[in-house]
Amino acid sequence: MKRLEELPEHATPSRDCPKCKGHGLLTQTLGFHAGVTLCDCIHPSPCPRCGGSGHILALMEGVERVGRCKCQILPDRARLFNFAKLPARYAEATLESYEARDEATRAAKEAAEQWVHDYAAGNTKRGLLLHGEVGRGKTHLLVGVARRLTLEHNKRVRFVEFTLLLSELMEGFERGDGRKTVLAPLRDVEILAIDEIGKGRCTEFELAVLDELITQRYNTAKVILATSNYAPGNATGEKTPNLALHGRTYAPSAAAAAKNADPGFYDRGLRVPTLVDRVGDRVYSRLLEMVGLVAVEGGDRRQILHQQQNQQSQPQSPTPAAPHEPPPTPAYAAQARSVEPRRGEARLTALRVTLANQMTPTILSSRDPKIVVQLERLLGELQDVEEGIRPERPVEELVRDVLHVAGRLNLPAANQKW
Ligand SMILES: [Zn+2]
Ligand SMILES: [Zn+2]
Repeated sequence: MKRLEELPEHATPSRDCPKCKGHGLLTQTLGFHAGVTLCDCIHPSPCPRCGGSGHILALMEGVERVGRCKCQILPDRARLFNFAKLPARYAEATLESYEARDEATRAAKEAAEQWVHDYAAGNTKRGLLLHGEVGRGKTHLLVGVARRLTLEHNKRVRFVEFTLLLSELMEGFERGDGRKTVLAPLRDVEILAIDEIGKGRCTEFELAVLDELITQRYNTAKVILATSNYAPGNATGEKTPNLALHGRTYAPSAAAAAKNADPGFYDRGLRVPTLVDRVGDRVYSRLLEMVGLVAVEGGDRRQILHQQQNQQSQPQSPTPAAPHEPPPTPAYAAQARSVEPRRGEARLTALRVTLANQMTPTILSSRDPKIVVQLERLLGELQDVEEGIRPERPVEELVRDVLHVAGRLNLPAANQKW
């Protein structure tokens, strides 16, 4: 039997591979999820060190030992990454590719990077809650954190979108095996990353199941990472966002409101629900014990993108409309776009805002929640297209799906031409 140091080198990716840049892993999408596969530049094959078995048998200090071959590091990472089920539309999102455009978003990015570092080093067991208005790239940051944890630190992460989490839990409970098939894996995974916590309808029953999940994780000291469009802070008593789903849901700090050129926000007497209004006292107070808070404030990335596009395409165009115009009814409609959308996408914004306006809490409460969740996801996709995020499929197909699902909910916008 050979000594460990006499074994041949393990198979490795080619350093100058144009496809994987020497990392050995290629990003792809697996249905709704992001995935990675091994690059075919990994050579020689089979691995000369283990003969392809993944295990080595060698003498270490005179004793026979079995070990795992180093060639298994990449497949192990790929398995962890694919287990995380990151959303396909963020397949390429990394912490490196998160573009911090101002001081506030730079601070948020640094906090996320620092957290990964601290957690990997065993210095913290407390998770993170990234909170801020829609369009700040919170999901990108969360995905970037999950990506780094799986690919660089061998951590087991599971990513879930909040409304989908609730609908999965509900389906499981309706079938009668929810605790075993749905709740247990979410309870046991080392790190649970919940995107957009507080979003959606949040019925009493859903919140009770959420409470069970969070409490069990709390009791076993498991880590939660989350994003929310709702601000932490005191309850306002307002349960539902004024503009049903994709309108403004977040009460920014006074400083952020001023920076975002919306000083009239408070003057209009709008009461915006906070996270505690949405998820209830019990879940909220547990969460606060389990996570550190990171505000993702700063300019709206969507608006910044539009501004840049406008500057590039129409250098003489006047600066965006002043945000001080008196609010029409409903008040949120004016805020939906204070900046001219990119050419060809005004239509998408109009469709999304119209639908969001039609999805009032009264209407939603009388509709099938599964279809509501479906539409909500589609509107999220639309918003991504507006933000300049590469769509998963042709925009026309997306619009067709949106109108189809809106029709199933009997929303008037489904019968209009878009
Ligand atoms: Zn390669
Ligand atoms: Zn090997």
